[in-house]
Amino acid sequence: MKPEHFPDDIRPHLIPKPEGDLVYRCLECGAEYDISQLLYTCPKCKGLFMLEDKAADRLKKHPGAFWRRLFDYRKMLNIPALKGIHLFYELITPIIPLSDIIYLGEGHTPQVAANDDLRAEVGAPFYFKNDGQNPSASFKDRGMAAALSYLNFLVRQPGAGRMLAICASTGDTSAAAALYSSYLGERVASAVILPHGKVTPQQLAQPLGSGARVLEIPGVFDDCMKVVEALADNYQVALLNSKNSWRIRGQESYAFEIAQWFDYDLAQKSVVVPIGNAGNITAIMQGFLRLHDLNIIDTLPRILGVQSRHADPVFRYYLEPDQAKRVFVPVTVQPSVAQAAMIGNPVSMPRVIRLVQEYHRRAGAGSVAVVQVSEQEIMDSMLLANRHGHIACTQGGESLAGFRVALQEGLLGPEDTAVLDATAHHLKFIGFQQMYFEDSFPPEFEVTPKPEYQNRPQLLKPKTEDPAQKTADLAGQIAALLQLTLKGK
Ligand SMILES: *Cc1c(COP(=O)(O)O)cnc(C)c1O
Ligand SMILES: [Zn+2]
Repeated sequence: MKPEHFPDDIRPHLIPKPEGDLVYRCLECGAEYDISQLLYTCPKCKGLFMLEDKAADRLKKHPGAFWRRLFDYRKMLNIPALKGIHLFYELITPIIPLSDIIYLGEGHTPQVAANDDLRAEVGAPFYFKNDGQNPSASFKDRGMAAALSYLNFLVRQPGAGRMLAICASTGDTSAAAALYSSYLGERVASAVILPHGKVTPQQLAQPLGSGARVLEIPGVFDDCMKVVEALADNYQVALLNSKNSWRIRGQESYAFEIAQWFDYDLAQKSVVVPIGNAGNITAIMQGFLRLHDLNIIDTLPRILGVQSRHADPVFRYYLEPDQAKRVFVPVTVQPSVAQAAMIGNPVSMPRVIRLVQEYHRRAGAGSVAVVQVSEQEIMDSMLLANRHGHIACTQGGESLAGFRVALQEGLLGPEDTAVLDATAHHLKFIGFQQMYFEDSFPPEFEVTPKPEYQNRPQLLKPKTEDPAQKTADLAGQIAALLQLTLKGK
């Protein structure tokens, strides 16, 4: 729709202008820093940052109803910069001019309802929100759209020069970082550091295809993270890991979209999300809290975090009911099919701890919970979902497995509707499905395939060499196998 055709009260706000006062706020000592510098942790105390809009009160001048109307109308506007996560511009990167915003088709991913059969099997209504339908096929694109728009803004300042963007990754961060950096061309080069042999062939192919420099090191993700941190501490590089608070901002869009999907009524709703480095659950909680601050939503949805038994430090932390007695202890991970969440020392843990406290304060104890699932449950749940029209990856399977556990334990009830995060596209993690079908999981995964979920191709050989007979012979074999009935009988 053309801007002149929008209602009079919406038109002046439709195309936003840069405003606001963003700073990095240290979560530990409270110090604030100018965003004109590339900073990831507090120079004084090494604490993590959140981005804070010091002029956020200007947004409160409008009632919640105004923002709901504006965001809903903006969906009809055909300006690329506002088509993706920046539809919610005022809540994401309000200081960046629209001309610096990068849009590669991220965000507004479909929310697909479980059909009657699947709902009956699981015992409650739910949706998968398919973040695998983002451009690099995972939710990481949301954060990269924000972080690279910011870098684009920085490198376009006079005298800025070239920049090297770097990240460690369990696979999907590097795919997203490489994709968005490649869009910026010469001005931003990218390098990714991956744990050798611990990412899927698809995830390795993605940054290679985008032209990034790909460096592999022995070990697991946590080892890569240490190397990248040493680089960021000592050299001029832009770090694109979860420490990067711009990424968290972009990922908040997942919460905004869920609110918009339900017409901003989140009573009796819950959101289920796998936890790895804990950036995503941080962003989702923060996103809902900020909508609540602005009266855009009245009710906070419940949040359910899910971890595999093979990488469960956040689950273990919350096992202790007494907040004062909780101590965070990193774990050594074991192989997990939810490989993108196979992290023993989540970077965003300090953010999670604070946000859970705030969430509990506003929405009551039990409004955020973390459950643990087995590798077997993850695989079975993924296959169950995908046999009912979904495209869940192993982490999406982890969401469904966690949802089922929460229903069994009474943490969630069948009167609630859940939105399950399918964090990546099924095809990125297809090797695990293959191992299930072929029963070739190494024993440490502890997965025993269930025959009803296994599937494999069946090779048919024609019983004749005569080219004239071959087609009829194969058609006959197939008709017999599928027990087809002859026409007219
Ligand atoms: C990164 C990732 C996760 C884990 O998200 P965190 O923000 O690290 O907790 C889960 N699933 C997929 C597919 C991912 O790429
Ligand atoms: Zn500090």
